[in-house]
Amino acid sequence: MRISRRIKAMAPSQTVAITDKAKKLRASGVDVVALSLGEPDFDTPQHIKDAAVAAIEAGCGHYTPNAGLPELRQAICDKLRRDNGLEYKPENVIVSSGAKQSLYNALQALLDPGDEVVIPAPYWVTYPELVKLSGGVPVEVLAEDDAGFKMTPQQLDAACTDKTAAVIINSPSNPTGAVYTADELTALGEVCLRRGLTVIADEIYEKIIYDEAHASVAALLPKLKPQVVTVNGISKAYAMTGWRLGYVAGHSDLIKAMSKLQGQITFHPAAVTQHATLAALNGPEDDVVAMREEFRARRDYVVGRLSAMPGFSCLMPGGAFYAFPRISGVFGRKTGAGRALDGSPAVCEAILDEAHVALVPGSAFGAPDYLRLSYAAARQRLETALDRIENWLATLS
Ligand code: PLP
Repeated sequence: MRISRRIKAMAPSQTVAITDKAKKLRASGVDVVALSLGEPDFDTPQHIKDAAVAAIEAGCGHYTPNAGLPELRQAICDKLRRDNGLEYKPENVIVSSGAKQSLYNALQALLDPGDEVVIPAPYWVTYPELVKLSGGVPVEVLAEDDAGFKMTPQQLDAACTDKTAAVIINSPSNPTGAVYTADELTALGEVCLRRGLTVIADEIYEKIIYDEAHASVAALLPKLKPQVVTVNGISKAYAMTGWRLGYVAGHSDLIKAMSKLQGQITFHPAAVTQHATLAALNGPEDDVVAMREEFRARRDYVVGRLSAMPGFSCLMPGGAFYAFPRISGVFGRKTGAGRALDGSPAVCEAILDEAHVALVPGSAFGAPDYLRLSYAAARQRLETALDRIENWLATLS
């Protein structure tokens, strides 16, 4: 079959690939603990489900405006004012089928061939692929655990050339859970202002943050705000991954360009999802707080256990629901089954095959000395997984 060079050149999502392998193992009867996917294990809050059912009963199953229901775009503006100190009008907002599509549409609308986009590593696996699909060139800047996994303004400045168009800042971060402080974001924003860069601020983990208050870069530097593209969504905050809705707030010219693109491809996200999102954004946040507190307890448990494992070390993440331990201490060793551990893919493969725990190698995120463990799983499953990893480590020679 004929397949385009463009798609052949794309890297498939390693998180999805590992989760698929774990599912296959499970189907063959093996009890696998899958800690590889970035998905809250909670159910969508009841009042959101009720609003969706009511919308279906009221006959919502027709096309909506391309950029989203007017009342939803207004609710997003209200949310941005309330939570983020950002003033936007509905014409500055577009909803899409998941923040993944929001990011894709934004990059398609922003980039010309050869434009460079600075991506701090460890990064979410999808960013470089979306940049490449949009004709851009990803420029990775590695910030490791000794820097709290955060890019410095000096690193950003040094990575810029006359082709640099944009930078992606994801706080709290997938995969590290790192959270940039307001001061750190301001310092990065000043470099962007001086260099005329567009800032893509992916704030999808905003509600899962444990210590710092969340800061939005667009609110910190009013002069930079027209160049900031704020991306957010409902997947993580409200346990609504399957509903598929993300949104972008930014300059009205960009929103118009994104609307033009969206109008020719997916059109708006499902009408019922838009009604559910309205209930999520306008409703009580007790469930959001309860989920965050459960994630906090799991984080403390998981990081405590990982840090005590020989050959591993783990920073305490400030947000999201991932631990990102350094595992290079076991490189060069052999498993009980005789496998050589020559890098993070080999370590994750061995842990899956021999200990039956699915994890994602750091190499997928541009940081080969680490692995990612998602603690969005029941505590008892986390305990089982960590016991298994500990026992597996004891087999190494
Ligand atoms: N941004 C980050 C950093 C993510 O981790 C994810 C999902 O894993 C997304 C965006 C996309 O979320 P969705 O497309 O489910 O809204």
